[in-house]
Order: sequence, then C-alpha cells, then structure tokens
Amino acid sequence: MAHPKTERTLVVIKPDGLQRTLAGEIIRRYERLGLKLVGMKFLVPTASHIEKHYNLDPNWKRIVGEKSIEAYQKKGLKPPSMDPIVLGDKVIDALQKYMTSGPVIAMVWQGAHAVKIVRKVTGGTEPLTSDVGTIRGDFVHDSYQMADTDGRAVRNLIHASGSVEEAENEIKHWFKKDELVSYRLVQEQILYDVNLDGLLE
Ligand code: GDP
Ligand code: MG
Repeated sequence: MAHPKTERTLVVIKPDGLQRTLAGEIIRRYERLGLKLVGMKFLVPTASHIEKHYNLDPNWKRIVGEKSIEAYQKKGLKPPSMDPIVLGDKVIDALQKYMTSGPVIAMVWQGAHAVKIVRKVTGGTEPLTSDVGTIRGDFVHDSYQMADTDGRAVRNLIHASGSVEEAENEIKHWFKKDELVSYRLVQEQILYDVNLDGLLE
C-alpha cells in the first residue's frame, strides 16, 4: 500500500474566488497546512469539461437532486420536479454557467489525509452554514435559498474533492500525468521522518 503521505486531492479556485481577489489567501490556507503543491494551472474551463467533472461519479447528480428536493420540502415548498435526476441536471446546468464564467485555478495538493484536511479547511458547501474559520465560512455569505431562488449555483469560492476515489478521478480529468511534478519538499522531513536525524549540527 502507498504511504499515506502520497494522498492527493484536487482543488479548484472557482471564478468568484478569482474575482474576489482571494486566490493568494486561499492558496495560503492549504500551503500552511504543510501540504505539497504538485500541480497548478490557470484556465477558463469549457462547459463540457465541467459537465464531465460533475458526472465523473454517476451517483452525484441523483444525490444533489435528492438533497435539493428535501430542501424544498423542508421550506414547505413544492419542488419543481420530484425526479432527483431532473433537479440534479438543473444544478449541473447552473454549475456549467458558473464555472465557465471566468478564469479558475486548478491545483493538486499532496500529503497525509490531503482530501479530508482540505475539505475541513474549505468548509461545508453552503457558506451560510459553513463553520467560522473555514475559507467558505470566512469569505462569502451565499446560501442554498438565495441560489435556488435565483436559479444559479451556490457561489462558494472553491471546489475540493470529496473522497480519495473522487480525487483520483478528478485529478485525471484536470491534469495530464506530465503536468504533475514529483519532488521533495524540504519540510517533509519534519512532517514525516521517523528518526528526525540530521537536524542537529
Ligand atoms: P461541494 O463538494 O462542497 O462543492 O458540494 P457538492 O459536490 O454537493 O456540490 C457541488 C457544487 O454545486 C457546490 O459547490 C455548489 O456550488 C453547487 N450546489 C450544490 N448543491 C446545490 C443546491 O442545492 N443548489 C444550488 N443552487 N447549488 C448547489
Ligand atoms: Mg463535491
């Protein structure tokens, strides 16, 4: 089995992150965790790239649709459809519009528990309820209610892979193998070295 320190995750600073001039702040949050940046690109994604991204997991559309139906019902409202796939498609359409509206920065971060640690610091999907201290909780105030009323995607600055499997598929979707760099980061010794020899002169 590969050492846990080789775990990788995909992070995309969404167009609102760039427009809010938060790219440096966001990168700093991941950098200071001790994670290693192994890939990075600046681009305007195409609609088909985004559609494929959100269909990499065949269940994602249905799960988002089910969540959306539940949210309507909780508010005492009638969902526009009772078919989760129909609602999931609506979210994907909105995401295509959002994610292709301007440049994004796609990054791959590596380190032990990279997926979970990045999600923890990024915060929950809905900025209104994301924890204080997380990036989404600290820098934006959008909500499901506001986004659904206006028929758009929740603007939450960042995409971060939700599981190791999702990360592996998403990294392959965004980066060619030779766009990722294998290298040693000097701080890895203090993070992972078992013996910590070689520090004292
Ligand atoms: P994430 O992994 O935290 O980004 O959340 P998801 O994978 O569940 O959803 C992907 C993206 O779709 C989110 O980051 C939001 O931008 C958007 N989104 C998710 N659920 C909803 C929803 O119920 N309504 C709207 N309008 N947008 C949503
Ligand atoms: Mg997700």
